[in-house]
Amino acid sequence: MYEKLYDDNAYAVEFLSEVVSAYVTTWEDEEVFEFVLEKTTFFPEQGGQTSDTGMFYDTDTENEFEVFHAYIKDDTVYHLARLVKKPVETKKRKKQEEEEEIIDPKSVKLPKRIIGRINWDERFDKMQQHSGEHLVSGTVHRLFGYDNVGFSLSSDNVTLDFNGKFTDEDILEIEKTVNRAVFENFKVKVYYPTPEELRKIPYRSKKELVGRIRIVEFPGYDICACCAPHVAMTGEIGLIKIVSAEHFKGGTRMSIKCGYRALEDYRNLLDSAKGVSRLLSVTKEDVFPAVEKLNNDLRDARFELNGYKTKVLDAAFESAVASGDGDHNNPIMFTSGLDAAIIRKSINNVIDRTNGYCGVFFTGDKEGYSYIIGSNVKDCTILASALKEKFGSKGGGNKSMIQGNVVATEDEIKEFLKDYSDGVFI
Ligand SMILES: [Zn+2]
Repeated sequence: MYEKLYDDNAYAVEFLSEVVSAYVTTWEDEEVFEFVLEKTTFFPEQGGQTSDTGMFYDTDTENEFEVFHAYIKDDTVYHLARLVKKPVETKKRKKQEEEEEIIDPKSVKLPKRIIGRINWDERFDKMQQHSGEHLVSGTVHRLFGYDNVGFSLSSDNVTLDFNGKFTDEDILEIEKTVNRAVFENFKVKVYYPTPEELRKIPYRSKKELVGRIRIVEFPGYDICACCAPHVAMTGEIGLIKIVSAEHFKGGTRMSIKCGYRALEDYRNLLDSAKGVSRLLSVTKEDVFPAVEKLNNDLRDARFELNGYKTKVLDAAFESAVASGDGDHNNPIMFTSGLDAAIIRKSINNVIDRTNGYCGVFFTGDKEGYSYIIGSNVKDCTILASALKEKFGSKGGGNKSMIQGNVVATEDEIKEFLKDYSDGVFI
């Protein structure tokens, strides 16, 4: 077994290690380097948490490797890395810009000893999230008796799945309790109890564990078996914010943001609230009632506008029917921005005074034209079939009215309609 420095010291960033094995391997169709080391601070992907990333520096050559992933198999940590291309001298650089240098990984001298360094900001961020998750899961278990049945922690998301549901008040209570643990700023205990000691510890665990069990304890709040790095003091977690709690597989999927992530989220929300408050000329505290009022005003305005649209459409049809000579009263209109209910109503208003097809082709969200066509003397399904045959249009309806969508230009449609309607185009 090789040494996992992160087990005992979550704050170890840099280390020196002999290379046990290094070779070229294929990872997602790319040739990369894989390293096994005598010791490592790189936490590998496991238990729902993505791995650390960082750098390896060869102590004998100038070669540098960027570690993009680490995984664990049979208790051994494997590090996947790419060679970092060094900047070349000025003279050579120009040539390199012209043609990208391709390095065959197999030609690279593999290191015997490296200095490794994890990306500390990324690690600390994950420590804040993971420790926050333990406080939330432990508190949920203690207050409501639900288990954490799923966990995912990546660079941009933390989700916790519970086998129970919460009210809004429950969420507030959980949030208040876990943040109190943060402000109390107490020590987080990490230890390896003997099997006898372990039997007496009421710890949480998702699965039956064997071998040496690592216990992470937040005294008074949570005891859990866990292999990940955690903060030393709860104050380091920073604010814990439950940003959502949605029904999921009969239970709840909760999203949380802790520490710097909560700060960034607050900043983004504040920027957004400030932007809206500027737009509406209200204080950011008054944004919600202002948006509510705006929403109501918009609904009223839409209602009023629909009234005007109906009048305009009715007037256009009335005018077309009035100017028709009796034999050719079948107006077809081309327009935009009308809704189907208004169009159907207008067609029905004049249909008794037409003697052919009466309809509207209108543009909207869909490509081409939507159409509604009615008639009380002709069979509209014949026209629907013809439109389908000519333009591949989609739609439905019955003999007296059809509705659908056609991808064609206004001129193409008018040309086509000549065979079916000798009326006027508006
Ligand atoms: Zn954990």
